[in-house]
Amino acid sequence: MTVNSMDEIIQAITTHQNYCISTHTNPDGDAIGSQLGLAHMLEGLGKSVILVNRDPTPRIYRFLPGADRILQPADGRLSCDVFFIIDCSDQARVGNELFSSVQCRLTINIDHHITNQQFADINWVDKHSSSSSEMIYRLAGRLHVKVSPETADCLYTGIFMDTGSFRQSNTTSIVLKTVADLVELGANPSRVAHEIYEKQSPGRLRLLARVLNALELRLEGKMALVSVTRDMFNATGTTVEDIEEFVNYPRSIEGVKVSALLREEPVRGIKVSLRSRDSTDVASVASEFGGGGHQNAAGFYINGNLEDAKDCLEKAIRQLLNETQS
Ligand code: AMP
Ligand code: MN
Ligand code: MN
Repeated sequence: MTVNSMDEIIQAITTHQNYCISTHTNPDGDAIGSQLGLAHMLEGLGKSVILVNRDPTPRIYRFLPGADRILQPADGRLSCDVFFIIDCSDQARVGNELFSSVQCRLTINIDHHITNQQFADINWVDKHSSSSSEMIYRLAGRLHVKVSPETADCLYTGIFMDTGSFRQSNTTSIVLKTVADLVELGANPSRVAHEIYEKQSPGRLRLLARVLNALELRLEGKMALVSVTRDMFNATGTTVEDIEEFVNYPRSIEGVKVSALLREEPVRGIKVSLRSRDSTDVASVASEFGGGGHQNAAGFYINGNLEDAKDCLEKAIRQLLNETQS
């Protein structure tokens, strides 16, 4: 983290009135939580905020206060003084059309991805933060803005999801202190857990059954992979928003170092999500394929069909595991 960029962000917030905030395509809990948390904070300072994302908010995050205000891009242009882009490692992750449809004086990128490309006018990138939501909480402290219970719920949810419900190695003492603060400020952990884990649709569980049934182990059990095909979505009446967290199931098998979820996409080929443990760095594999992410969670696209993508991935993971051992 560079202290300068935080100072510059505070300066920009002091100076400007109208904001637009966006986050990445196929948004996750940290994307939505940090976006809404920042919006509530800015509004607490009397600012005007428009929220716009390329893709809809997954059902499990729609309980978050303000989620109903997030727009999908309409035709035409949006204008604001400052355009915040949160939790996005590069401009394309926002959606190129959306990015170019926002007219603004200043762009600000707040993110924690190791692969961030510093694409904005002001870039605050902290790869040591668990989540963008943790960074927004830090910004609130520096702005001396009161964190409302609504903001606290949003930021808590972002941290909860990006730490794998406090199970991953990014669950630092700072994370636990931050969420303790957020609970004191009004975040409700049992409600958040209930909303996220205990309101599943029957279709999602039927889809999970199909996905796990086709589990494959490769590389002497060190790599586990599952796939989601268009047929599976059709047969269970589900969509991409129903597969959140599926990639963690194969990683839970003893001896697995890398888990992968491959999903057939209508336009861009196969979407790959990778998860790993400890020092096995899947972000490096994602970068090779033009994607990005973190050491233990990364994603990218591969052109072609599912079986070819699996073989291509196996090769890359074999090389990664060989390098990690040596
Ligand atoms: P996912 O498996 O899609 O949930 O992504 C895991 C992590 O990698 C998240 O932090 C994403 O923001 C990041 N990520 C996924 N796909 C991409 C991509 N195409 N480019 C950059 N980062 C990505
Ligand atoms: Mn994210
Ligand atoms: Mn994140």
